[in-house]
Amino acid sequence: MDAFTLIVASGLAAGIMAATMFLLYRAGSRAAGLVDWSLAGLLFFASNAVAFAASVTQVYDVSIAAIGNALYVAGHFGVLAGLRRHLGLNPRYVLLLALVLAAVLVHRTGFAQASVANRLLLFAPAIVAINGAVVWHAWHVPLMVLELLFMMQMVVRTGYIAVHRGTTLTFMGSQSLQTLGSLSVFVFLMVAGMSCALIVIRHQELALRKASLTDNLTGWLNRRALHDVAERECLRARRSGGRLSFLAFDIDHFKSINDRHGHAVGDSAICHVTALAAQALRGYDGLFRLGGEEFAILLTGSGDDTLLRIAERVRDSIARTPLYAEDKAVAMTVSIGLASCAPGDTGWEDALRRADLALYRSKREGRNRVTLDGDTFCTAAAA
Ligand code: GH3
Ligand code: MG
Ligand code: MG
Repeated sequence: MDAFTLIVASGLAAGIMAATMFLLYRAGSRAAGLVDWSLAGLLFFASNAVAFAASVTQVYDVSIAAIGNALYVAGHFGVLAGLRRHLGLNPRYVLLLALVLAAVLVHRTGFAQASVANRLLLFAPAIVAINGAVVWHAWHVPLMVLELLFMMQMVVRTGYIAVHRGTTLTFMGSQSLQTLGSLSVFVFLMVAGMSCALIVIRHQELALRKASLTDNLTGWLNRRALHDVAERECLRARRSGGRLSFLAFDIDHFKSINDRHGHAVGDSAICHVTALAAQALRGYDGLFRLGGEEFAILLTGSGDDTLLRIAERVRDSIARTPLYAEDKAVAMTVSIGLASCAPGDTGWEDALRRADLALYRSKREGRNRVTLDGDTFCTAAAA
């Protein structure tokens, strides 16, 4: 394959990468990293444009090589910077400046000026290191296998040239080593573009899924999520013979809090109660807001004593910790119902229904208390 065609093809691939990343950004995703990846595409494009211009004009000296190589290394760095930004890390553009400066300065050395092969030996470690960092950050993306292949061909080519010091490479040469390198760059650009787009699309899909299962006031899971989680836990409990229980609770006289303090304080009160409940629970209990000021906790593997102890902890913590809003203390209590899945149940919904009935018994019997289903057990508030 002739080098000129490969340079044109790689330039086009780089341009398509730059445009795709920018259009994805403009299309509304505004994902961190897309602008860096678009910039990376532009840098690769510029590096190919330099090679293209040099081959058309037949003007090729070491300063043109310096510009082309610096742009090429910067392009690789742009891919890494975008990935780091996407992961919420500092893209470290200061390093890019240092890298570009080093790339330009290195061309002033006699070693770099001596041959194309020497310049490859100088640049390969930096490119392998940058791409190694990309794989390190995104090893879970399937296309990273191709990124590894790109690094391998770089190592093999450089290793061969290091061992066979007599190998001569020429700018725009079509030697098999050169062709392999140019082809790899072409494939790399196609794969880099696809990988970056996949990372963004996957990230957004996960964010949308999370949003569809989460209540945005409290951060607790919603009713739709309860169905998925409870179904899964129910199957697991049946297989392992474990116990599945529900703690249902509802804020007492919540309407009057809204009426007296306003809806915004009402919202804060809901968050206050859920935060206190979460603190009183174990990290692995499932927390759900079923609607309004009604909540359910899914607990696994707890006997009645443990359930009652946990419920009492939740009730007591909420009753003893008022919310301070607008310089006023807003005291709240909750009524709690507890129930566990039983052998005759058709599903987890039966247990949740019984927990609800127990909760309404707590309400009937004076609120601010815990009722365990199927039992006359009822803890009343101490006060
Ligand atoms: P009970 O002790 O019997 O539970 O009485 P309650 O006043 O707590 O119950 P009721 O069902 O009569 O009222 C619940 C109120 O909760 C009515 C509704 O306006 C309010 N509410 C539901 N969701 C929200 C919310 O997201 N924010 C606020 N501020 N209020 C809400
Ligand atoms: Mg209520
Ligand atoms: Mg209610």
